[in-house]
Amino acid sequence: MTELLPNHFNGTWQTGTGQGTVLTDPVLGTELVRVDATGLDLAAGFAFAREQGGQALRALTYVQRAGLLAAAQKVLQANRDAYYDIATANSGTVKNDSAVDIDGGIFTLGTYAKLGEGLGERFFLADGDSARLGKDPLFQSQHVLTPTRGVALFINAFNFPSWGLWEKAAPALLSGVPVIVKPATATAWLTQRMVKDVVDAGIFPAGALSIVCGSSAGLMDQLQPFDVVSFTGSADTAAVIRSHPAVTQRSVRVNIEADSVNSAVLLPGEAAGSEAFDLFVKEVAREMTVKSGQKCTAIRRVLVPEELYAAAAQAISARLAKTTVGNPRNEAVRMGALVSRAQLVAVKDGLEYLKTQAEVLHDGSAAALVDADANIACCVGPTLLGVRNAAGSDSADRIHDTEVFGPVATLVPYRTTGGSMDHAFALVRRGQGSLVASLYGSNPQALAHAAAELADSHGRVHIISPDVAALQTGHGNVMPQSLHGGPGRAGGGEELGGLRALNFYHRRTAIQASTTVLAQLQ
Ligand code: NAP
Repeated sequence: MTELLPNHFNGTWQTGTGQGTVLTDPVLGTELVRVDATGLDLAAGFAFAREQGGQALRALTYVQRAGLLAAAQKVLQANRDAYYDIATANSGTVKNDSAVDIDGGIFTLGTYAKLGEGLGERFFLADGDSARLGKDPLFQSQHVLTPTRGVALFINAFNFPSWGLWEKAAPALLSGVPVIVKPATATAWLTQRMVKDVVDAGIFPAGALSIVCGSSAGLMDQLQPFDVVSFTGSADTAAVIRSHPAVTQRSVRVNIEADSVNSAVLLPGEAAGSEAFDLFVKEVAREMTVKSGQKCTAIRRVLVPEELYAAAAQAISARLAKTTVGNPRNEAVRMGALVSRAQLVAVKDGLEYLKTQAEVLHDGSAAALVDADANIACCVGPTLLGVRNAAGSDSADRIHDTEVFGPVATLVPYRTTGGSMDHAFALVRRGQGSLVASLYGSNPQALAHAAAELADSHGRVHIISPDVAALQTGHGNVMPQSLHGGPGRAGGGEELGGLRALNFYHRRTAIQASTTVLAQLQ
């Protein structure tokens, strides 16, 4: 039998008492390890984290906690090779794609370590300046942010077992709030291994970092009023989290990062073969294939002026045709596997669903696999769909509603009557709120105008103009300095954005007092 991974909970390493769920290699089909949370004393583990972990973290200043993050970053860096091996085996990703998750997570942790250094040897933060409450300036109101005295429960998605942990844990731990992470079962191994390395290094106080692998049953029931829960995953599970009594009755603060039908928009006036057109084509093909399209930020809708539909279809397809798919251990392979058989089925089903309203411009289903058995490997080539004309973009509702979580995108032509982008904006907005939209063009005024038009329905607008071609960080790359999250169907959450991320883990309070008292607030 394969190894049963222990959970770190209630200050100790403990294996579940059940048989466990087997994690598999999505390329070879082999069994890797098992995870199980049966028999854990959830009430005791949550109390231990909340009381022991929380108290010990809050006894440290922001600068001291930043030091712990930096130490954890070093431990993770020293063990990178092991993480790449786990990612190859359990996620089926090629090295570059594993890097997005592993190095992206380590980089984010390091960024918060640096940001924390600037917060000072303090135990809470001032929020803005004080404001006088009447004519006499002696009595004023000063807002402060103090770390919440609860735990942060993270329920994470399968596609980012490393980054998904550290992009949440870094701001939580820096804030002084203990973390309990429940990774998605399919890829829990990498999260478990990283937590193990950091816990075994003895960096954080007991109870600061816990991990429960396996079933989520009962976790939400443990949450109390000062706890917070941060969820990343599908809209369906998000609805379950939102309607849990912990949220509806006990006011547990919740952050939701759900699915998103993100767009890329080529602005009018950019001819086929122009610099902006080529940057657009390159980014769309890259986004479709990085991590086999299993990124919440991946481009799903590709908007082009109607007259450029054929040229864009041809150029993107030509790039996709060069994508070699198969076993990530083979150097010739550029795109590895989907994470599981279930995801492969979901992607195929999703494609069939979209195809009822779209034509196939590049067919990935026939792609020959390199070094992989098509009967076993969860691999599929990239597929570009398209709706032939602007009227089709209006009538095809499925392309605006459906996130196929794989290497799939749809070309969506828009009308540019009089050079207007109104039709493009209306089509983008049919995504009902997304994590990110990217804009491609060479006219700064038009790009800025489009960004302002789309900002309210997106967490991030990424603009690629020729002057930043070599500098831009990528449509789908989430940088810790920038906000991650989106309104509407994207979940309505907010993560990262530099120090803004700390707000979620702090309570804001107005202290009303004499200026002499306020001056004593440290
Ligand atoms: P999922 O099926 O919703 O699972 C997400 C997490 O919720 C997993 O840890 C899962 O555990 C857990 N879970 C399942 N049922 C639950 C319940 N009743 N109560 C509490 N937790 C429960 O999502 P996924 O398939 O892992 O992830 C893919 C989706 O995530 C995509 O739609 C993608 O767009 C989205 N995503 C969004 C972001 C973002 O930042 N916005 C980032 C990454 C992914 P088990 O694994 O044990 O079932």
